[in-house]
Amino acid sequence: MDLLEHQGKHLLIDGGLRVPRGQVVTSPEAARDAASALGGRVVCKAQVATGKRGKAGAVRLVDGPEEAASFVSELLGRDIAGHLVETVLVEEAVPIARELYVAVLDDPTSKCPTVLFSTQGGMDIEEVSASHPDSLHRVSVDVREGLTGAQAAELIATAGISGAAAPALATALEQLYAVYAAVDAALVEVNPLVLTDTDEVAALDAKVTIDPGSVPRQQALLDDLPGGRPKVLSTDLESRGRDLGLQYIELDGDVGVLANGAGLTMTTLDAVAHFDGEAANFLEIGGDAYTKATPALELVLSNPRVRSLLVNFCGAFARTDVMAEGVVAAIEELRPTLPISFTIHGTGEREAIQLVRDRLGIEPHDLMDDAVREAVDAARAASNSGEELAR
Ligand code: ADP
Ligand code: MG
Repeated sequence: MDLLEHQGKHLLIDGGLRVPRGQVVTSPEAARDAASALGGRVVCKAQVATGKRGKAGAVRLVDGPEEAASFVSELLGRDIAGHLVETVLVEEAVPIARELYVAVLDDPTSKCPTVLFSTQGGMDIEEVSASHPDSLHRVSVDVREGLTGAQAAELIATAGISGAAAPALATALEQLYAVYAAVDAALVEVNPLVLTDTDEVAALDAKVTIDPGSVPRQQALLDDLPGGRPKVLSTDLESRGRDLGLQYIELDGDVGVLANGAGLTMTTLDAVAHFDGEAANFLEIGGDAYTKATPALELVLSNPRVRSLLVNFCGAFARTDVMAEGVVAAIEELRPTLPISFTIHGTGEREAIQLVRDRLGIEPHDLMDDAVREAVDAARAASNSGEELAR
């Protein structure tokens, strides 16, 4: 869940960082008043959850209240990379001596939080790593200890920064790490973090992404954000899934997937990809969700791209015969005409397989690979023949 810049800055202020004074406005008149209150020379910044706003002409340094009002009237209602501008941050222009880059992120390779620091601020990190790889420094953090003062100081020193600014920068890194940890962020990126002409440290931008898995325990934080909780962009099918209490994520492919448990579902998606197919959805049924087999199946089939259905059950505590009963009844009720492949293992598998065989006339595969391959081939064949499957 991506926060807007001003929401991210709100968290940085709470964390003790210095952020330019600013006001969020929704009209040119309010922009004029804000610019006057802030002393005239201000930066107007579209509040959209996407980067590179500078390049898109959505960030501008203006000389006074009138210019602020006219630029904000241009910005409001504009589309920036698919995001509608509804609010603008008007903030004091900071005299920049040096632009730096810093990010704290979940690093899948080290499986640790990692702090990245570069002296090439203002550029995208991809550009920095391509054109100035030597300027990019990193340190892995032990989550039990957090970023230590010594680690922060070493990172700054390795980047070649010394003198009066170094301790202030090291403190800023520690504060940023503390914000990342406190809000369950997957990413806190400040680009640029600047040194002002008086050697003060200030965060001029903020990109904060809250780990989606932590949203339930960060309710208070999200509700207290200025401007309210960020909108989660979801498809109609995903909204329907949420209303049904199902964890459904729409994907781009054509193989509909029904599996029990998030882990097996992820594995099934991987297996589909392994056999050069593309899954049409993630959907977790399991726990008590098998009692929702009919709405779950209906949801999967509502995706117009779905050309085949892959059912993969694996039971340990969960009984596959109970899950199969739910899905078989759903298939009997909805009567989909697309090809269906089953593979069932674990507790209750003998009864489950018999049920599928007897009531649907489908032979479940012994090997998961065979079921996946069959579903991928069936989807491909249906797509190739361009056939619109009536469901
Ligand atoms: P984005 O990363 O989306 O392009 P930024 O917030 O980083 O947007 O702004 C782009 C550039 O504008 C920054 O790199 C910085 O040079 C400048 N800038 C942003 N905010 C201020 C400010 N308050 N004072 C002075 N310059 C600013
Ligand atoms: Mg930026």
